Amino acid sequence: MAKIIAITNQKGGVGKTTTAVNLAASLAVQESRVLLVDLDPQGNATMGSGVAKGQLQRSVYHVLLDVCGVGEAILRSESGGYDLLPANRELGGAEVELVEMAGRESRLRAALEGVAGDYDFILIDCPPSLNLLTLNGLVAAERVMIPMQCEYYALEGLTDLVNTLRKVRASLNPKIDIEGLLRTMFDPRSSLAQQVAEQLKQHFGDKVYDTVIPRNVRLAEAPSHGLPALAYDKGSKGAQAYLALAQEILRKMPTAATV
Ligand code: ATP
Ligand code: MG
Repeated sequence: MAKIIAITNQKGGVGKTTTAVNLAASLAVQESRVLLVDLDPQGNATMGSGVAKGQLQRSVYHVLLDVCGVGEAILRSESGGYDLLPANRELGGAEVELVEMAGRESRLRAALEGVAGDYDFILIDCPPSLNLLTLNGLVAAERVMIPMQCEYYALEGLTDLVNTLRKVRASLNPKIDIEGLLRTMFDPRSSLAQQVAEQLKQHFGDKVYDTVIPRNVRLAEAPSHGLPALAYDKGSKGAQAYLALAQEILRKMPTAATV
């Protein structure tokens, strides 16, 4: 059964999508079967996977509203080596349409149940808010990965997120827990970044990944080519950091197969 990880932080621009795309590609290159779910109407993960978001016949929107089955909407990211449940701006309407529907918070979970056996990992790229779409991500997942920039306000936002997780655990998904906090766009020359990174370690201990993602221009350039950084510039510091993150995750898996 797939390990389902929601990549979330209600703060915008912290590296959720960059992490989703590059971790998906890095796990895939290490022989994991990966499905990346784009749960953001911005469709950035879709574009970054090399799929044109304007020309989708079916997307996660249709799946959430039961217009089609999940298998009918899944595409292949050729550049990434993983499967993709894509999204585009149509998904923005789902927020309103879902309100009327039964089980509105657990529609993604129900949809993924049918394909969870086909993958080792399902990564969900959440939008930058704590709305009904994100809630669907948190109910479908068993673990949450929180990318964050090491800056002053980062910690403040974290409190809201942790409180939301508590509520979700109490009502909708008792299994949900933090998989890890990921320090992104890290600049080792900034003393504030180092201080915040330290505080995170003190507060969350080994929930903070050892791997740190540096600020790296290749990571920012790759999506404009529809490529994960591994396919765009494999030797870049950014691509290598996400490979290291994938290895750290695989290493920490309790049931990791030993060959
Ligand atoms: P949103 O909240 O809008 O969904 P996000 O959290 O998904 O944003 P990204 O889109 O991944 O964040 O990143 C925001 C911007 O920062 C993008 O332009 C991306 O290319 C760039 N970026 C992300 N990570 C890095 C990095 N490690 N080094 C340099 N640029 C980065
Ligand atoms: Mg994003």
